[in-house]
Amino acid sequence: MFQITEEQRALRKTLREFVDREILPLAASFEHSAAFPNALFIRLGELGFLDLTFYHQREGALHNGVDSMIVMEELARGLPSAALSMSPHVQCMNLIEAEGSTSLRERVVSKALRGEHVLAFAITEASGGSDALGIDTTATFDGDGWILNGEKCWITSAGAADGYIVSAKSATSGRYRDVSLFYVDAKTPGLDDSRRTPLIGMKNSPTGVVRMKNCKVPRDCLIGQENSAYGQMKILLNEGRLDMAALAVGIAQGAMECSVKHTSQSGHFGRSLSSYQGVSFQVARMYEKIFMARNSLYTVAEMFRRQERATMEVAALKLFATEMCLEVCRSAVQLHGAKGLSQYTDVDRYFRDAQMLTIGEGSSEVCQIVISGKLYHTALDQY
Ligand SMILES: Cc1cc2nc3c(=O)[nH]c(=O)nc-3n(C[C@H](O)[C@H](O)[C@H](O)COP(=O)(O)OP(=O)(O)OC[C@H]3O[C@@H](n4cnc5c(N)ncnc54)[C@H](O)[C@@H]3O)c2cc1C
Repeated sequence: MFQITEEQRALRKTLREFVDREILPLAASFEHSAAFPNALFIRLGELGFLDLTFYHQREGALHNGVDSMIVMEELARGLPSAALSMSPHVQCMNLIEAEGSTSLRERVVSKALRGEHVLAFAITEASGGSDALGIDTTATFDGDGWILNGEKCWITSAGAADGYIVSAKSATSGRYRDVSLFYVDAKTPGLDDSRRTPLIGMKNSPTGVVRMKNCKVPRDCLIGQENSAYGQMKILLNEGRLDMAALAVGIAQGAMECSVKHTSQSGHFGRSLSSYQGVSFQVARMYEKIFMARNSLYTVAEMFRRQERATMEVAALKLFATEMCLEVCRSAVQLHGAKGLSQYTDVDRYFRDAQMLTIGEGSSEVCQIVISGKLYHTALDQY
């Protein structure tokens, strides 16, 4: 079993208290507003909860490896959509710190750490989807900057973000893997991020379209080398999968807690629902699954901290944890009966929020492609 340290236990306690005090009592009204939680982001920044690092190691980061997972997990237990928006925000910030130009780092990183400047990732296009390299967006160098043209879809924090990291093909290069990443300020003329795509869940993490029409960015906005995005994106996807697993564990934990509370109340034929083993065993199975997922989450997070790529391991983790979360949330709704279906209750929100986890950052099918691809192309005695 993965043993967390006393410090990590204390971090979890601090976060639980914060979430119970400042997030859960407001979660229903947050969701009702369907607005990006700007004030909460700033509060998270003040408390150092945005100061996370995963594979891309940012020097001096407050929380690394397992600590970062505890933060993501506990915030997801409170408001999953805030944790969802945090994922690309933190990844973009760490990537800019690691590979961005000095001037870009100075413009963006410290404000992002404070939660005053929200960052988002714009990779997916209508023609790509599960194929992250299926990109039609182009970037053309015009002597003193890059001109971007294209349309990204399903972008987390679209319309709320202050800046996007965008993938694009340099117009001079036609090779499939020749893709580059650019930072584009949301106020850049030609950028339109006003079109939102309402989803069934994750209501406080607006999802939408980012359209760029002759959008010119300074040359210091190229992140890393031209045509180096293939390697960068592989790392980012792995980090995203780790985050989705953390969200899954946090959401499932929240759903389990709701189930314990609800089924402990007396009043059903004079006894509590939990007095029926058919009910209490369902809750026991929830715990079993969360326990297994959490242990795997910390194991893979630790591999990331050691700078191991862990592509197969994180795909397996994401597949297991997100499917587990769906099962737990479904049982939680069932145990709540009709109450489980009423809008703006925690259990209904967890259930709807959980649905996106098996799709974003590599769907369950894509994770199986990654795992089976490795199994059939590497000597079996390695596993
Ligand atoms: C809430 C949310 C937030 C998102 N945030 C971002 C973001 O911030 N930035 C960003 O760039 N993108 C984002 N995305 C996009 C996300 O990465 C894509 O939705 C995802 O990659 C899947 O692409 P698709 O939706 O086009 O599905 P498709 O690729 O069209 O797939 C449809 C179905 O077919 C399956 N499938 C596809 N290929 C295969 C295959 N070879 N074998 C078997 N099955 C297959 C898939 O698993 C899926 O079930 C977000 C999506 C959601 C839902």
